[in-house]
Amino acid sequence: MTTDTCRLCGCTEDHPCPTGCAWADETRTVCTLCVERVRAMPPELHVLIATAVTAGDQDEIQKLLLQALAADLLELQAEAKAMEMGLAPITAFQVCGLLQLALRHPGLSPELRLVGDRLVALFEQWFDAGAPAAAIAIRRGADPAHDRPLTVPTTEPFEPAVDEIEVKPPSLIVLPGGRG
Ligand SMILES: [Zn+2]
Ligand SMILES: [Zn+2]
Repeated sequence: MTTDTCRLCGCTEDHPCPTGCAWADETRTVCTLCVERVRAMPPELHVLIATAVTAGDQDEIQKLLLQALAADLLELQAEAKAMEMGLAPITAFQVCGLLQLALRHPGLSPELRLVGDRLVALFEQWFDAGAPAAAIAIRRGADPAHDRPLTVPTTEPFEPAVDEIEVKPPSLIVLPGGRG
């Protein structure tokens, strides 16, 4: 039996969940955050997942989680919920670069590619309003012919700006075609 690793999310003592967690069971196989999340699911699902976790049946856990995920997303979609995010400009540019990197993956499904392309187009539009060079960089970022080895222009240590990501409650991600 694997211990010291959460069977649901894979967090460990050295790499706990970003918002903090502890072991929820004596044998250290499930973290407190996952236990709370499973408790928030419908009771029948809660029981099935708890049983699969106790049995250490990763295939069953995966299957149940995927079912729960699909049901949750469809429900949120039916309620017309969306996630709204506020990104500092530097963070927004970095996120756009990460998306473009992901879009280079040859195995990406057409559906995911469409979502990624639309989001990148939104970033490009937003930067067009006050940062034309950034908008051009994003456009060039879509073309592998413009790829260069990463160079950092100063010797200053690079400070990631992830603290500036703000998810506004109630959360919504507004995708083109999603609302209005
Ligand atoms: Zn966990
Ligand atoms: Zn955890």
